[in-house]
Amino acid sequence: MKTLSLFDKMNSQPYYERLEEWKKETGKKIIGCWGLYVPEEMIHALDILPVILFNGREPITLGAQHWQSYMCGPVRGVTDLACKGKLDFLDGMVIHDCCHEIRGSVDIIKLNAHNIKYIKPIWFPKILKQKQTKQRLLEELKKLKGSLEDFWGKEITVDALHRSIEIYNENSDLMAELYEMRRRHPGIMKAGQMQHIILAGMQMPKEEHNQLLKDLLSEIRTDSFSEDERVKIILSGSLCGEMPEEILDIIEDVGGCVVDDDLYVGSRYFLTRVSDGNDPLEALADRYIDMVPPCPTTQDPSNDLGQYLVNMVEKSRAGGIINIITKFCEAHCHIYPWVRYACRDAGIPELLIETEHEVTSFDPIKTRIQAFVELIKGE
Ligand code: SF4
Repeated sequence: MKTLSLFDKMNSQPYYERLEEWKKETGKKIIGCWGLYVPEEMIHALDILPVILFNGREPITLGAQHWQSYMCGPVRGVTDLACKGKLDFLDGMVIHDCCHEIRGSVDIIKLNAHNIKYIKPIWFPKILKQKQTKQRLLEELKKLKGSLEDFWGKEITVDALHRSIEIYNENSDLMAELYEMRRRHPGIMKAGQMQHIILAGMQMPKEEHNQLLKDLLSEIRTDSFSEDERVKIILSGSLCGEMPEEILDIIEDVGGCVVDDDLYVGSRYFLTRVSDGNDPLEALADRYIDMVPPCPTTQDPSNDLGQYLVNMVEKSRAGGIINIITKFCEAHCHIYPWVRYACRDAGIPELLIETEHEVTSFDPIKTRIQAFVELIKGE
């Protein structure tokens, strides 16, 4: 498929090099978004490109001078890229304080990445369903809006924000359609290719991504797919980072296929649409409070991650779940036992894999995934 190859090609270059080239070609400004829930629509409404930052794949050197090795890969890696000047193409950064590891990075980046002139930390309430949550969240969103407007000398109008929300919602709908197609026909693409599509959307103008998604969907509709005999797998986790593509390939090499996911570079990113309301700031606040996938970094007893994943397995008729924990992610490690109990109680096979920035060999992971797939098959 032509469009699929375009996404693969975009992913073949480190994102910071690709975005630097894009900036030179277009002359547009870019703001890096780091942390799980930066309201990108607000940046988009200023006609600035919001991009999600990742740790990349290169060895961590300068970042290791600032962080202990028991910090998660995304924190050490993004700090490393910023300290090395690889993120100097950014006109600014908005950092969502989704955990205390990220919080500590703000000062390190401010002190070392002198070429990034605007660095704005934002804080959102962690307990989602308290009486005062929405008011507190609105105050934070207003502060961010004011800060962006002051720095760039331009107002974020209600109309512009509505328009940006509309474009992002369209993206969410198109991605949901693509996911529905994959649930029905897992063979439409490799799991790694689905990740390329989402990564591209996190780092290119959403209008262009929407058009590419429409092209891709019409190409897929004309293809025919035979019955897929592979073991259907759900993936969950990998907070703040992309999945190592090697793991996605391993799942397919040993006879599995990914039918749905709750990954950060996955459905977690696009699943919660912003409702159409009169006040766009309120709508953005509601999106955070009513987020569909329960998040390990927030608390909402009415929205249980274990049950959410059990429902996902049932909906896709999957054979099991692989939970991917970013090593040293306290929030995810804390919630994981409840996910495990929920799977056990529902009789769903479940496997835990920890991933690190520095992986020397994928062989032990391959052995475990192969055994897991064989167990589901009953071999
Ligand atoms: S992976 Fe976990 S610990 Fe690391 S930045 Fe994300 S939420 Fe924080």
